[in-house]
Amino acid sequence: LQAMLRRWQEGGRHARTASAPARGYTAAELARAIAEGQLLNHYQPKVDLRSGAFAGVEALVRWQHPEDGLVFPDAFIPGMEASGLIDELTRGVLLRAAADLRALRAEGLRIRLAINVSMDSLDRLGFPELVCAMLDETGLAPAELILEVTESRLGSNPLTALDILARLRLRQIGVSIDDFGTGHSSLRQLRDLPFDELKIDRGFVTGARKLPTRRAIFCGCLDMARELNIRSVAEGVEDRDDWDFVRSSGCDQAQGYFISRPIPAAELPAWHARWQQRCGE
Ligand code: C2E
Ligand code: CA
Ligand code: CA
Ligand code: CA
Repeated sequence: LQAMLRRWQEGGRHARTASAPARGYTAAELARAIAEGQLLNHYQPKVDLRSGAFAGVEALVRWQHPEDGLVFPDAFIPGMEASGLIDELTRGVLLRAAADLRALRAEGLRIRLAINVSMDSLDRLGFPELVCAMLDETGLAPAELILEVTESRLGSNPLTALDILARLRLRQIGVSIDDFGTGHSSLRQLRDLPFDELKIDRGFVTGARKLPTRRAIFCGCLDMARELNIRSVAEGVEDRDDWDFVRSSGCDQAQGYFISRPIPAAELPAWHARWQQRCGE
């Protein structure tokens, strides 16, 4: 798998499709976005591949910019990190998500929440306490929260990351490796890190049924999750073919446009009703 991944990366076929920011935003603009409440959350459902059940949501941040319209995170997350605003952003994401989950619970929906965490945060030893303080603010149970950490940036400070991940796990907070397959983690490195979920990058999921290289890497990642005895999630399930493929692969959960695009919280109950109908077909 390692050799296969390296060849894939060197071949440059894994160029990320993230749209380039229309323009750079200044630290002052980014600070204002937070202070003036211009950031909002959309939520993308994760479903269980065996039962079809609604397993949880991933919160994805957006910026309702007064002039530029709805701005996607790739255009402002790096700026937030560089300006030291990322923990403040994470706190906002978590507080909004907790409020939204409370409202959904009133409608009878009880689901787990995943949020994305910058590697910058895992460089700071105080991060677990910060997360716990945020959880206290929300009343959300630690076991209801999953933190998604991007694999490609895991290597920067492995000892601090290990320490922080271990302390998050001790407090029952879930930790997931995001974009798995785009970094260079070996099975041995991963074994040392206390993760409980592996999200296979959509570059190895979308179209995997018809593309042998993608399929092989996808299956290699799945083997790795089994070896580590952790949950596997396929992201980027875009159509019926992807869906049929991931279901037959033995992967645990899936996420992607075929299931649902990221949507506002208010649309989740209607999505859920439609999804149950689709699964009951
Ligand atoms: P990610 O965590 O890998 O999130 C998945 C991205 O893929 C999302 O883009 C989502 O809208 C998109 N996506 C979902 N399903 C499909 C599909 O079937 N096909 C395709 N082509 N794309 C799909 P989005 O929302 O633009 O987010 C981009 C990245 O920004 C995220 O990648 C994550 O790394 C980062 N991000 C988002 N929200 C936050 C946040 O609150 N904090 C931090 N630190 N990063 C965030
Ligand atoms: Ca993610
Ligand atoms: Ca991902
Ligand atoms: Ca990503």
